[in-house]
Amino acid sequence: MLMTDPKSAPALSADVMTLAGELGAERSKPGWSTFSLAINDDQREIRDWTHAFAADVIRPAASEWDEREETPWPIIQEAAKIGLYGLDMNVNLFVDPTGLLMPLVHEELFWGDAGIAMSLKGTGLASSAIFSNGTPEQWSQWMGRCYGTPDDVRVAAFCSSEPGAGSDVSAIRTRATYDSVTNEWVMNGQKAWATNGGIADIHVVVATVDPSLGTKGQAAFVVPKSEVRGLEMGTKLRKHGLRASHTADVFFDNVRIPAENVLGGKEKLDARLARAREAAGQRARVPAGGAAGQQGRNASMATFEMTRHLVGAQAIGIARAAYEVALEYAKTREQFGRPIIDNQGIAFKLADMAVEIDAARLLVWRAANMSSALMRGETPDYQHGEGSMAKLKAGEVAVKVTEEAIQILGGNGYTREYPVERMHRDAKIYTIFEGTSEIQRLVIARAISGMRIR
Ligand SMILES: Cc1cc2nc3c(=O)[nH]c(=O)nc-3n(C[C@H](O)[C@H](O)[C@H](O)COP(=O)(O)OP(=O)(O)OC[C@H]3O[C@@H](n4cnc5c(N)ncnc54)[C@H](O)[C@@H]3O)c2cc1C
Repeated sequence: MLMTDPKSAPALSADVMTLAGELGAERSKPGWSTFSLAINDDQREIRDWTHAFAADVIRPAASEWDEREETPWPIIQEAAKIGLYGLDMNVNLFVDPTGLLMPLVHEELFWGDAGIAMSLKGTGLASSAIFSNGTPEQWSQWMGRCYGTPDDVRVAAFCSSEPGAGSDVSAIRTRATYDSVTNEWVMNGQKAWATNGGIADIHVVVATVDPSLGTKGQAAFVVPKSEVRGLEMGTKLRKHGLRASHTADVFFDNVRIPAENVLGGKEKLDARLARAREAAGQRARVPAGGAAGQQGRNASMATFEMTRHLVGAQAIGIARAAYEVALEYAKTREQFGRPIIDNQGIAFKLADMAVEIDAARLLVWRAANMSSALMRGETPDYQHGEGSMAKLKAGEVAVKVTEEAIQILGGNGYTREYPVERMHRDAKIYTIFEGTSEIQRLVIARAISGMRIR
């Protein structure tokens, strides 16, 4: 319109100037400029400090611990001595209001090596479960014990999965029965694939108290191996990747646990069970899919959503490491008288790898920022499974990028002389644990549609 009516052009220009002025004034109001992807000085300092540890200590030891398939205790001790492993560090990362510090540190550690990094970060699963579900007294009693001290480092295990209950947590059969005579819980069952299972002192165990209530009849218990009888480690699993991280089944045979070890406290659990029984009774009387059911689903989704991005950050660390190796190799490897990166067939692969890694990181940072704000009660709830989006994308990017890295390194990429084959093995777990890719798609599909998709 501006171009077709020259007579009205000066007047419109004036209007445009006014409009631009108004917009400028509006944009300079507080709040307009709060969106930023720049990390601040503190975040940069901690990220670089973590990177130095990953480059100097973790990376050089990666191949050795992968071959040994053992928990790298000396590296955990070294990390604890400099303050990189322990509860204090986690609290410091957690309090960052942007939510970015935690994923920044995860990315750097897993850039160093995923197996070793999982040995450093696996304990966080148990301590987070205590933090999310426990009382302040339980935080101070158990969270520090998960990590031990720099002179006596410990790891902790979070045991939810069972041979018959992986994706389907409602199928958990490990049973905790309250014994009112001794004021104890008695636990029986088997947990599967537990990171640090059996070598940890503190085991946080999800068990069913009332199987008729499904997931609403479950509770989490702190089981300190050193203080109970009947907790036994099963066979340690030999794995495709993450081989420096210990994974094993754990058996519970009439394990007696003090009543107060149920996270959140027994009183709160009893009240929650009573509400769930009442709701189950109401559901039996009214058609399914009412408001109460919807609320229950949202609450549990929010809990999982709040930590999924961290697993995504780990996957990005692996992907970035493989991408960097491939980029360097492509610049130096010559075939047909020129570096292989001179061919678009290779250069475009690297371009795609870079784009995918950055795209995944943006999803992780968005979910991290939402998670942090949500914990302060500041933001609208997740709308579209944003935590799942981050984990899904990052996990699949890690698998794809590490595979392309092997392709770029050719025969060398397929051997253990170069790290990308290990990175590819490590990456694969990121489409499986902490919710498989299919389960993430299920969460997202339900969130975007509001439908009960199966
Ligand atoms: C190295 C490692 C470490 C682990 N660490 C821990 C830990 O510390 N603590 C812990 O509790 N667990 C841990 N796990 C277990 C992990 O979380 C489970 O393996 C995972 O949740 C998947 O469960 P599953 O193996 O039983 O697979 P299943 O649930 O049997 O799934 C098999 C396949 O079916 C698909 N599938 C299942 N249901 C559906 C559906 N409704 N729609 C579409 N597809 C579906 C899955 O996506 C998958 O592809 C670990 C596992 C490994 C390998």
